[in-house]
Amino acid sequence: MKRQIADDQNKAKSDFLANMSHEIRTPMNGVIGMTSLLALTQLDAEQQDYVDTIRLSGESLLSIINDILDFSKIESGKMELEAEPFRISTIIEDSYDLMSVKANEKGLDLLYYIEPDVPADIIGDPTRFRQILLNLISNGIKFTSKGEIEIAVEKIGLTDGVYTLKFTIKDTGVGIAPDKFYKLFDSFSQVDSSTTRKYGGTGLGLAICQRLVSLMGGSIYVESEEGRGSSFIFTIKAEADTSVKYFKPEEKRSSDTLKGKKVIVLDDNETNLKILRKQCSLWGMDVTAVNNYKEALILMMSRHFDIAIIDLLMPDINGIEVARLVQQRNKNLPLVLFSSAGHLPDDADIKDLFSAVINKPARQAEMQAVLMNVLGISNGLNAEVKADDEMMETLPIRILVAEDDAINQKFVTRAMARLGYTIDLAVNGLEAVQKAAATDYQLVFMDIMMPVMDGYEATSSIIQNSNAHSRPVVIGLTANALNGEKERLLEAGMDDYLSKPYKVQDIKAMIDKWAGKYPIPDETMLPDQRATNLEYIMELAGGDDEFVIEIIESFIDTAGPNINLLKDAVTGGDEEATKFLAHKLKVRSGSWVTKNREIY
Ligand code: ADP
Repeated sequence: MKRQIADDQNKAKSDFLANMSHEIRTPMNGVIGMTSLLALTQLDAEQQDYVDTIRLSGESLLSIINDILDFSKIESGKMELEAEPFRISTIIEDSYDLMSVKANEKGLDLLYYIEPDVPADIIGDPTRFRQILLNLISNGIKFTSKGEIEIAVEKIGLTDGVYTLKFTIKDTGVGIAPDKFYKLFDSFSQVDSSTTRKYGGTGLGLAICQRLVSLMGGSIYVESEEGRGSSFIFTIKAEADTSVKYFKPEEKRSSDTLKGKKVIVLDDNETNLKILRKQCSLWGMDVTAVNNYKEALILMMSRHFDIAIIDLLMPDINGIEVARLVQQRNKNLPLVLFSSAGHLPDDADIKDLFSAVINKPARQAEMQAVLMNVLGISNGLNAEVKADDEMMETLPIRILVAEDDAINQKFVTRAMARLGYTIDLAVNGLEAVQKAAATDYQLVFMDIMMPVMDGYEATSSIIQNSNAHSRPVVIGLTANALNGEKERLLEAGMDDYLSKPYKVQDIKAMIDKWAGKYPIPDETMLPDQRATNLEYIMELAGGDDEFVIEIIESFIDTAGPNINLLKDAVTGGDEEATKFLAHKLKVRSGSWVTKNREIY
């Protein structure tokens, strides 16, 4: 009986949390989404400042809400972890990226090093893993005023295919007194309550980290000395992901081509030197690492190097002055500047002095690419990074968004316009079903809680009404963060979901993520339609023959390069690329030749 009452109470508590989460996140979506759009408009300095403050307040409110929800979820035993493959270095780099603005403001270096025997990809919950890292990194930055944050990853065990990995997040900050260690991982605890105001925070971060780490089969502890910094160390257990990887030409080639190249690295920061030394050695480079510029100059004069990496901020002299001294003596040595974004002086001279600039935190892949580029080794990956509003150009798909909230409708319409898409809107599930029946969509964003017909039912109907080839990818828009929701979404046939509040970047990432999975118009329809398509194009052109030619030429212009790339991919036996390019071509052709659609 008592048990029953306790269960009921727990259920009531988690229902309450689920609803509260929805109620709070939906308006937060309006606040954060609209702010992200506002920030992209033309603003004067004062307005910019207001917008930044709204954004920061919105984000910090959201992070407090998230902490409280996460904590209650874990405490009530409702937190279940995902098991999907992810790359450790990517999560570290992404986390550093998110934190780089704060770190740069304080002049802190963000560094990481992964031992070579650590598997690159593991199976686990990337979102929760990132959450642990973000928490520890942001604490590190918060309590450090000078120096660096360093992440080291080691393998400490391997049993029956399960790795035990150790992550150390070390800072050079204020440190923690040993008698305070014991209460660090308690909820709502801050070491010194008087620091609360100075540093902010809810005191939940470490408590959440500890519980997440233990769900991952590991533990967390701290080593610290007051005034000298802290190391938060945690372990997790995970299997390596050994599934076949798509072909990554840049990784393959660089490991051979950088081999034997002589590099000299100059940096006053020992940790940074250690990392650069290890990293370059892994690529087979012959590394000389020095921490003072005089020694570096002498070495550069007396020995042959293929390339030099020079840090920007050093105590006696900055990297630009060093580069000038080197240039006076040895014009032929290519120099690479290692700089923290935000610290780079606005100096045209830099272009003459340096062959490239690497921003900290340095991404391994980016660093490889830069070194190869400077050394004149092409990696064949000269793809330009497209501006956001050209996304529609590369992925010409038709999108339907079902959303009942007027502000969110406005946000999503504008956000999509930023990416170049004109979307169709449905204000409830029923309308979404009707619209999807009348038009072929490649992608549907589906809010869950809607009047008349909810997102689950609407998704099931859309899927039932379309055949397997033409079924659109459906992404649920959910404010309900509690477990079980994701399973329900997938059961209803949705392919993925976006948690509210989401930003323009999240939408973009989602559209990108499903590239290659979007349906193409039913092929059996195409031959019949071809006859009418020219008529349709003529109709669109309003009888202007030149315009018809222009439309066709511009199709050929854009399709032509793709056909060449496709040929290369086929001859090269690159299956992934063939699939992707063929699909892209088909979607593009489809969008041009299918009747009853606008021309993209
Ligand atoms: P908060 O949200 O307050 O940062 P945490 O649980 O993450 O909560 O941290 C609890 C307390 O532990 C902090 O208020 C701080 O006193 C101490 N702490 C955490 N990380 C560090 C660190 N890297 N250096 C010094 N003190 C730290």
